[in-house]
Amino acid sequence: MNDKTAQIAEEILDGKIIDRAETEYLFSLGDEDFQDLLYWANRIREKFFGKKVKVCSIVPGRLGGCSQDCKFCAQSSRYETSFKKTETLSDEEILKAAKKAKQKGVPNFGIVYSGKTISEEELARLEKLISKIKNEIGIGVCGGFGIINYEQAQRLARAGMSRYNHNLETSRNNFKNIVTTHDYNSRTETIKAAKQAGLGICAGGIFGIGETDADRIDMALELRELDVDMVPMNFLHPIAGTPLADMPTMQPREILRLIALYRFILPRVHIKAAGGRMLNLRDMQSWIFYAGATAIISGDYLTTAGRAVEEDLQMIKDLGLEAELVCG
Ligand code: SF4
Repeated sequence: MNDKTAQIAEEILDGKIIDRAETEYLFSLGDEDFQDLLYWANRIREKFFGKKVKVCSIVPGRLGGCSQDCKFCAQSSRYETSFKKTETLSDEEILKAAKKAKQKGVPNFGIVYSGKTISEEELARLEKLISKIKNEIGIGVCGGFGIINYEQAQRLARAGMSRYNHNLETSRNNFKNIVTTHDYNSRTETIKAAKQAGLGICAGGIFGIGETDADRIDMALELRELDVDMVPMNFLHPIAGTPLADMPTMQPREILRLIALYRFILPRVHIKAAGGRMLNLRDMQSWIFYAGATAIISGDYLTTAGRAVEEDLQMIKDLGLEAELVCG
């Protein structure tokens, strides 16, 4: 057992938040320390979250046709993918999906939109829909509609929204290599605005897009600074037609290492294994919890097929953990 890792982990278990030097040390560990990292990440997860695991599902309210150029994304209209054109759910379809979520017994309806932001007209529509879902169907709403300011966040919160999703995607330094149509500050400002409006924050990023370990550390520390409460970790699922179509997929042990390292850096924040889980982790999916994850996205992802919620619930039960359906 590595003494220094053990010492850092014991301090985290005692409530300490690690600094950049300790973070860099943990990232420098080699494959021989893999089991050690997972052992301690699991201990940290158990200490702060016990047996509870959150399960989220999302409904794409607006899919594809996005003006932005995020290199990993199948929904950009700039790339030749099957999501080039925008498809928007009608009011009836959204309300029907929310009723279905209510029948499943989940406390929140999770809905996300493609696109840089939302228009005034769309915001007004969403306000009405969110209010109906909250007051008439009787469940909360979480999700994301792109870049928003404080006033827009306030209107969504007043309508009944409880949590906003807006990923940083990668580090500030690497962002320009991945997205050129908007800047990193618009992302951090959106998160700050949503938080100031009283919304819970779900913000993470995507890995396997050419970032370095330094980028991964930068993003984790930025998320910690922003005081988010859930960090979705997506792992590139290369899509034909996008600029990252030929990127090699990530290795399962590399993903587990990253989840464990994020658990060390963000000991009390939910870490959610999200897009790319099926493709990249293959048979090692259930290991994510022993690496420190406390949440998963279940069911289909936005542009790729996922696993049936029932299968994930069975996996969680088999691991001796307790699933809590958060949104559907
Ligand atoms: S990640 Fe979001 S903003 Fe970027 S291209 Fe995809 S839908 Fe558009």
